[in-house]
Amino acid sequence: MDYKIAVIKGDGIGPEVVDSALEILDAVGEKFGHKFNYTEVLAGGCAYDEYGEPLPEKTLNVCKESDAVVLGAVGGPKWDDLPGEKRPEAALLGLRKELGLFANLRPAILFEALKDACPLKPEIIGDGLDICVVRELTGGIYFGERGFRDTEMGKAAYDVEVYAEQEVERIAKVAFDMAMKRKKKVMSVDKANILESSRLWRKTVEKVAKDYPEVALDHMYVDNASMQLVRDPKQFDVIVTTNMFGDILSDEASMITGSIGMLPSASLGENNKGMYEPVHGSAPDIAGQGKANPLATILSMSMMLKYSLGLLEESECIEQAVTKALNEGNRTGDIAGTGEKILTTAEMTAAVKANL
Ligand code: NAD
Repeated sequence: MDYKIAVIKGDGIGPEVVDSALEILDAVGEKFGHKFNYTEVLAGGCAYDEYGEPLPEKTLNVCKESDAVVLGAVGGPKWDDLPGEKRPEAALLGLRKELGLFANLRPAILFEALKDACPLKPEIIGDGLDICVVRELTGGIYFGERGFRDTEMGKAAYDVEVYAEQEVERIAKVAFDMAMKRKKKVMSVDKANILESSRLWRKTVEKVAKDYPEVALDHMYVDNASMQLVRDPKQFDVIVTTNMFGDILSDEASMITGSIGMLPSASLGENNKGMYEPVHGSAPDIAGQGKANPLATILSMSMMLKYSLGLLEESECIEQAVTKALNEGNRTGDIAGTGEKILTTAEMTAAVKANL
C-alpha cells in the first residue's frame, strides 16, 4: 500500500528525532511492502522565520490532504518574546483545531528494562505500569473566550472553560473504546465539586457509559487524581479528562515512566485521521548535538501505523524492536544509569532498526 504522510520536523531536536522515526518507518515499509510518501512542510519557529507565521496555509493544506501527520516539536528561546499568535506553540493549537483532532492519546508505559528510571518505589510500581491518558484537545479553557476587564483590584484577565455535551460525548467514546481493548476500566477526572462545566462533563460521561456495560467507570476529582497517580498508579487503566487537566496529568503520568524522551502521543479526529508526535518539546539545550532520545518519536510511528493506517502487525513490530533494543542495554543519555554506555540518536536508531 502507498500512504501520504505530512512531515513537520519543527524546531530544536525536532528534525533529529523525526529523521530517526522516518528511517524506522521506511525500514518497516520495506519489510512489509508499503511505501510511505513524505511531504515536508514547515510549522513553528522555523515557519515564522521563513513566512512570518507559525502555521502557514500551505502546511495546513498538505496536512489535510495526507493520511497522517508526523510532527517533531516546535518552539525555543529564539521565539519566546513573540506575541501569542506568532509563537511557535500557536501552530500546535491551530493544527489541532483545523484538523479536528479532538482526542489526545498519551500512553504512559514503564518498560521492564527501564524500571530503575522510575522515580517511585519498586513496591508501588510492581511488575510495571501501563496507563493511557485520553485528553480532550480542542475545547475547554484553552479554546474558550478570553480577555481583559477593569475591576476594583485593577486590570483583570480571564479565560473561560466551556464544554458542550457533544464534545464530551465524543471524547468519552474514544476512552471507552480504548478501555474495551485494555483492562476495561475508565477513570473520568473532573472538578465537579466546584465547576459547573465539570458537572456537565460527569453527567455526559455517565450517559456514554451506558453503551459500554462491560467497562467499569469511576470518577475522581483532579486534585485527588494527581495525588493517586504517584501514590497508587496501578489503579488506573484509561484516564479521560479535559484539555487543561489532561495537559497536567499526562505530564505527571509520563514522568512516572522515567524519561520524557520515551513517550509517544497520538492526536485523533474523526475517521482516524491523526497527528503523531513525541510528548517532549524541542529540547533546545541538547539540539543539534546528537543526544536526543528518538524512541518517543519512533513509538509515535507505531501509534500511527495502528490508529491511522490500521497496520497492526507493523505497529507491533516497532514496539517489539524498541523493547528488544532496550533489553540489549542500548541507552541514550536521558535513560542511562551511572556507568552505562551512552548512545547517540543515530546509534539508538540503528539499534532499533537492527531489531525490526
Ligand atoms: P522539553 O521537553 O523540550 O525539554 C525538557 C527537558 O527534557 C530538557 O532537559 C530536554 O533536554 C529533555 N528532553 C526532552 N526531550 C528529550 C529527548 N528526546 N531526549 C533526551 N532529552 C530530552 O521541554 P521545555 O524545555 O519545557 O520546552 C522547550 C521548548 O519546547 C519550549 O519552547 C516549549 O514551548 C516547547 N515545547 C513544545 C512542545 C511540542 O512541540 N509539542 C511540547 C512541549 C514543549
